[in-house]
Amino acid sequence: MARKNAPELLSPDDAGLSRAAAILAWGELVAVPTETVYGLAARADSAQAVARIYATKGRPDFNPLIVHVRDLDQAQGLAVFDERALDLADRFWPGPLTLVLPLRVDAGLAGAVTAGLPTLALRQPEHKVMRALLERTGFPLAAPSANRSEEISPTRPDHVAASFGEDCPAILDGGASRDGLESTIVALRDDGEWSLLRPGPVTLETLTRILGPQSEMDSAAIEAPGQLARHYSPGKPMRLDVGQPDADEYFIGFGAQESDCNLSRDADLNEAAAHLYDCLHRAAASPKARIAVAPIPDDAMGRAINDRLRRAASD
Ligand code: AMP
Ligand code: MG
Repeated sequence: MARKNAPELLSPDDAGLSRAAAILAWGELVAVPTETVYGLAARADSAQAVARIYATKGRPDFNPLIVHVRDLDQAQGLAVFDERALDLADRFWPGPLTLVLPLRVDAGLAGAVTAGLPTLALRQPEHKVMRALLERTGFPLAAPSANRSEEISPTRPDHVAASFGEDCPAILDGGASRDGLESTIVALRDDGEWSLLRPGPVTLETLTRILGPQSEMDSAAIEAPGQLARHYSPGKPMRLDVGQPDADEYFIGFGAQESDCNLSRDADLNEAAAHLYDCLHRAAASPKARIAVAPIPDDAMGRAINDRLRRAASD
């Protein structure tokens, strides 16, 4: 039986897309599918709509949002693209790379989107349902991950529904997220320096090949106000790099081993990323009091997985 006041689940067809676009146009929220994780979207040009995102997530107001655009043209109306930015957009858009660029004075976005910063985080997503939605809305969509602040990110519609219940009016169903981890965030500065603000599907190795070595500055503290140490929390104690779990631990495995939830039996890091949040949701819901996670190699996508695991394990 459907839960009373559960979010409206919209199918990714013409009718569902029209309904999602209409709800967004009124200034309400819709949870949307992307290739990274599900986002909680609002029209980025409406202060009232954007305020609903912060209120619904319980997100601190100093933590700015990523704006999702239809295409590069729309992006260039919002932020200033230099040659490096154009090159990165050309290589990786649509896709899981977010660029932090100087905000244009005439961008017309709600101030809360950037939390008052002079920079804007922008991305053209690849998921075909999200792209179809952005075509219909015309306005760009501010969308953080569709979970309550500090909790585990959602990679499936039922994760969103479990986190928000009736507080999220509608969920556009786009199936399970392909990448399963949030986008890589890169800040490009005026002085030619750059920094990785969040590891993700576009790896540090790849970016370094294109941009050269990143700036030595401790960018994390200065430029990523939202990279809070505590995040993605399953709400119970969690140990990392565990070879042998204790009896009261829900074990998240990697590679050919016995486990309660396996990230990838073939030890494939991309597959592991796609399964990570689903395993964390299952671990959170299990009767076991604690969680243990097998070691994950710290290269390529593994870097992004370990970043999320460290935050999930911090209390
Ligand atoms: P989420 O939407 O939950 O994936 O988080 C978005 C991330 O983007 C947060 O960690 C923010 O701190 C980061 N972000 C958004 N806008 C900016 C910006 N202008 N400068 C630096 N980081 C940003
Ligand atoms: Mg998030």
